[in-house]
Formats: sequence, C-alpha cells, structure tokens
Amino acid sequence: MIKFFPSRRIIKETGIDFGLLSKICTDIFESGFNRKINIYCKVWKSKEKETSTMENTKGKCYFTMHLDTEGNKRYVFGSILHELRHAFQEYIFNFTTVSRFTSYNAYYKSLEERDARKQEKITSEIIKIYDNFKKCEEKFKSFNLKELGYNKGVEQNKTKQWDS
Ligand SMILES: [Zn+2]
Repeated sequence: MIKFFPSRRIIKETGIDFGLLSKICTDIFESGFNRKINIYCKVWKSKEKETSTMENTKGKCYFTMHLDTEGNKRYVFGSILHELRHAFQEYIFNFTTVSRFTSYNAYYKSLEERDARKQEKITSEIIKIYDNFKKCEEKFKSFNLKELGYNKGVEQNKTKQWDS
C-alpha cells in the first residue's frame, strides 16, 4: 500500500483527504505496476518557494515529501504525483540519484525529472476520481443510505425507466 502521513499544517492548508488519496494511489499504481507496493510517506510543508522534494529516509519504504502548497488544486495534486514518482524511481526501478545539477536546464532535462513529469499526466484523472469519491460519500450521507427505507422527495420521477 501507499500511505501518506501529512502534517497538521499540510492538512489545514491543502484540505486534502490524504486517507482517500492513499487509497486511490494504492489502487491505481498497484494495478498499473501489477505488483504490491509498500511506501510510507510523510508529507511536510516545503520551506522552499515553488519547490517540492522527495527524500528516501529509511530502508526501501520510508519517504518524506516536502510539498509546496502555494497553488491551486491541480498544482498540488500534480506535485504530489510528481514527487511520488521520485519514490517509484527508487522503490520500483532501483534508480537512485545523487546528482546535484550544475544548472536549472541540466536539472530540467535530466532523466529523473522528465520521468517524474510524465506521471503528472494523470493529474486530471486522479482529481476526478478523488472528487467523485468525495461526492459519492456526501450522497451516501445525504440520501441516508445507511438506513433501510426511502426518503421523501428523493424518488420523484427517476425510477420509472427501470420498472418493467
Ligand atoms: Zn522532480
């Protein structure tokens, strides 16, 4: 499983349900890579402006992400997916980097950054899944699906097409 452990500040500033995001990432990536993944990732606020980083902290499975939260939802989710890819580079591909780049250009064009940006391509889809899951949770509550029976006003005209 992929599990995020956000700091209070991260929860407060992003409003993201990291429990749900952990579940979605686990499903998508375990299915994509067709294998079990065990990544435990702390998420802390980045102190560097416009910069997020990922660091392997212990063994194979433990990481710390420093996340830049100064941006819209798409930026933040995209950054999380990008940084998670850096974890996959080590965890899945055994690709470790110690390089410090001499220029921004060298950094931008490096294999690891190109590869990490590739994973940002699924940002929209991850957001849609996340948002729809949240909407579904809300509907489950608002339509009182925990209880047997019906709510007045909910049925209206919508059931007809399924009756034979
Ligand atoms: Zn990167």
